[in-house]
Amino acid sequence: MVGFKQGKSSKEIIVGAHYDAVSAGKGIDDNASGVGVLLEAAKALQDIETPYSIRFVSFGAEEVGLQGSKYYASQMDESEISNTVGMINLDSLAAGDHMYVYGGAGEAGFIRDLALEIVKQKDLNIGTNPGENPKYPAGTTGDWSDHAPFKKIGIPYGYFEATNWEIGDKDGYVQTVEHGAIFHTENDTLEFIESAFPGRVQEHLSSFSLLLQELLKSLGSK
Ligand SMILES: [Zn+2]
Repeated sequence: MVGFKQGKSSKEIIVGAHYDAVSAGKGIDDNASGVGVLLEAAKALQDIETPYSIRFVSFGAEEVGLQGSKYYASQMDESEISNTVGMINLDSLAAGDHMYVYGGAGEAGFIRDLALEIVKQKDLNIGTNPGENPKYPAGTTGDWSDHAPFKKIGIPYGYFEATNWEIGDKDGYVQTVEHGAIFHTENDTLEFIESAFPGRVQEHLSSFSLLLQELLKSLGSK
């Protein structure tokens, strides 16, 4: 599914969240949470002028090798690629202990950097990968979700996720101290997450929604 919103500029931002899930659990964290925040932003911004045009995309088949986003990126021609200033990926926002925003290294991290400025202004409890694992330098993340095919064709990414980079192999894979990984397990249900972490789903989704909407209003405004 693709929804398009015209902005002041014809330059575009892609906002993406995969809607498929694995068969274990119900896919509430991975990735109904991302799709929900995407739909909320599309609705909230429909009558608000944004600097850039926005393409809201829900990808299929992320869990079987990023098939949806790989296909989407592969059918972009050169003018579409150069017209796209960035891609914001939303994946697994509900269950993890901490909220994060990542981006590329150096200047390719401008979406993350702006997001972190908004976090400060709005006093949100969102940080970035502290970089304790040398494979994933501070502020960045691995190529394991729908941002990767865009990064590969030179489009800078931003990526929202909730997990915990301070535990396990410090690779962002173990989401919680108390119950380990929730995604891809039978615990990925609203009932489990709500009872294990009361209030977390609401707090995470409202924080990420606010950040995404402010980000889409700010990107390209100066
Ligand atoms: Zn996912």
